[in-house]
Amino acid sequence: MRIAVLIVAAGRGTRSRDDGASRAAPKQYQPVRGVPMLTRTVGVFLRHAAVTHVLPVVHGEDLSYYAACILPDAKLIAPSLGGASRQASVRHGLEALASYAPDRVLIHDAARPFVDAVVIDRVLAALDAHVGVVAGVAVADTLKRVDAGGSVIDSVARAGLWRAQTPQGFHFPAILDAHRAAFAAGVDDLTDDAAVAAWHGLSVFIVAGSERNRKLTTAEDMAMAEQDFPSALLPEVRTGTGFDVHRFATGDAVCLCGVRIAHTHSLEGHSDADVGLHALTDALLGAIGDGDIGQHFPPSDARWKGAPSHLFLADAARRVAALGGTISNVDVTLLCEGPKIAPHREAMRGRISEVLGIAVSRVGVKATTTEGLGFTGRREGIAAMAVATVTLPGAH
Ligand code: MG
Repeated sequence: MRIAVLIVAAGRGTRSRDDGASRAAPKQYQPVRGVPMLTRTVGVFLRHAAVTHVLPVVHGEDLSYYAACILPDAKLIAPSLGGASRQASVRHGLEALASYAPDRVLIHDAARPFVDAVVIDRVLAALDAHVGVVAGVAVADTLKRVDAGGSVIDSVARAGLWRAQTPQGFHFPAILDAHRAAFAAGVDDLTDDAAVAAWHGLSVFIVAGSERNRKLTTAEDMAMAEQDFPSALLPEVRTGTGFDVHRFATGDAVCLCGVRIAHTHSLEGHSDADVGLHALTDALLGAIGDGDIGQHFPPSDARWKGAPSHLFLADAARRVAALGGTISNVDVTLLCEGPKIAPHREAMRGRISEVLGIAVSRVGVKATTTEGLGFTGRREGIAAMAVATVTLPGAH
């Protein structure tokens, strides 16, 4: 079953910028609890096991903001450009998805970053029995009809009234037909896809959404989101460890933590054999539970022959960033009788800080001998240990 997700992120977000900061990024690119809203929203769907394709629809002027906050992912399709209305933006996205022939599509607002797998699963499950399914919340407040002067005219019975949220899920061919028909008929101002479906005569079913899944529209919403749901969104601190060994071979220099050091031998390995960066790469991958260096860069792959190991480290850092994570600190210990590490320690810290994009104060490099004991003591090779601490946004 192919399940595509279309994320509508083409709005101008002007309502959240009532402080006059007109040059600020649109709200979907602004941070919510430290992570850009769109990064959060896209991440929820990328991490959902049933989702096979994710297509964001963005405004043409926002591509640089998009590139800065969304990293490549196997499920992610290059963004489509939005249209003059929300309805047009969704239609552009659906047309772009058509070549992937999804069975189902979930259409979701970028401005609802706190959607979760429970709501997504409810919509997907109901799609087995219905052609269109909307997440929503039954109205609990008493509703008043008010005149232009602010006087209450009467109460409106709330029985049977729901606030529609997203995701709104559909059998893909049906909603594509509905959007095409509405476009052909010149109907272009429907504010959600359930309305487009209903306009086309499709029946739409509603399932429970959640209060957390509310739309962040105004500056006040953004400010409230910073304070809400503390327990669910507390940052999560992760640690990972790495260990590596490379054997000495004939040569005149070693590469350690990204620094070339003249020595009586070289280190043997498929890449540049930088034992320090290999241990550190594994520590970062370990912290996010994303395999190890050998899985992502197999020695059997000729592309990595002689490769500088900073490429592996940068890839691990990208994987952390793709989860909205930040690297709090890293610490590497090199175990060898020689070469002497101390004279190169600051260069190594600087190089690691550069590759990871973190302050030098967050990078530790240390070395020890093993008192002549074991393989490092016999100068047969160099070992390295590393630890990394990563902070992930909450709700992972
Ligand atoms: Mg290695």
